[in-house]
Amino acid sequence: MDGKSILAGMRAALGDGERTALEKISKDGGGSGSGSGNSNGRGRGSSDPFRVLIGTILSHRTRDERTEEATERLFRAYQTPAALASADRQEVARLIRGVGFYNVKSGRIIEVAKIIDRDLHGMVPETIKGLMELPAVGRKTANCVLVYGFGREAIPVDTHVHRISNRLGIARTGTPDETEAALTRFFAREDWIDVNDLFVSFGKRVCRPIGPRCGECPLAAGCKYFKGTAKKQTERK
Ligand code: SF4
Repeated sequence: MDGKSILAGMRAALGDGERTALEKISKDGGGSGSGSGNSNGRGRGSSDPFRVLIGTILSHRTRDERTEEATERLFRAYQTPAALASADRQEVARLIRGVGFYNVKSGRIIEVAKIIDRDLHGMVPETIKGLMELPAVGRKTANCVLVYGFGREAIPVDTHVHRISNRLGIARTGTPDETEAALTRFFAREDWIDVNDLFVSFGKRVCRPIGPRCGECPLAAGCKYFKGTAKKQTERK
């Protein structure tokens, strides 16, 4: 199976519509952006990178619905880096209550807003290096902002992307960073931007961590994990 067949199979299994929380948050930002100096009118969504950045930080260890609700409440109250930079921490914690570690995250997102407002003229960095210099921003978050905030080619690797890549056999890797490197070699650059959204949605609905639905999976014929499971079952008979 090549990269395009895998993505086509996932699309067929998932159908149309918005899928991940970040895809939704990027669209909720609207075409004009909600207040950061840079807004994106190209590629995936037409979003406000600042909203995507904050939404991605909130999404860590948090269910999609809770991330979406908290981001919506927060941006109704504070629409710009400047506004969030001068916000009361307890009020921010109240607004994002429901996301994992909301007390810690309230301080982190205010700190991020301060740096963007004070040091970066209200502009979210547009490079992985610049993004990773912000507090609470690791490689996965930075790549998410590139994809969902700026519409740039990148492959954010979370637990779903890592697991499915290894099950399919398109990566044989031990860490998300290694998986990212393997996937950037495997997929054509023009397809990178769709990988995270499709893999994450596919990982929630079909190739689940426990109990993958291999029987209804369009990728089963080319899947290393499925072939291994089928072989074991045959050997047991
Ligand atoms: S066949 Fe099973 S393990 Fe392989 S990708 Fe499909 S759901 Fe995942």
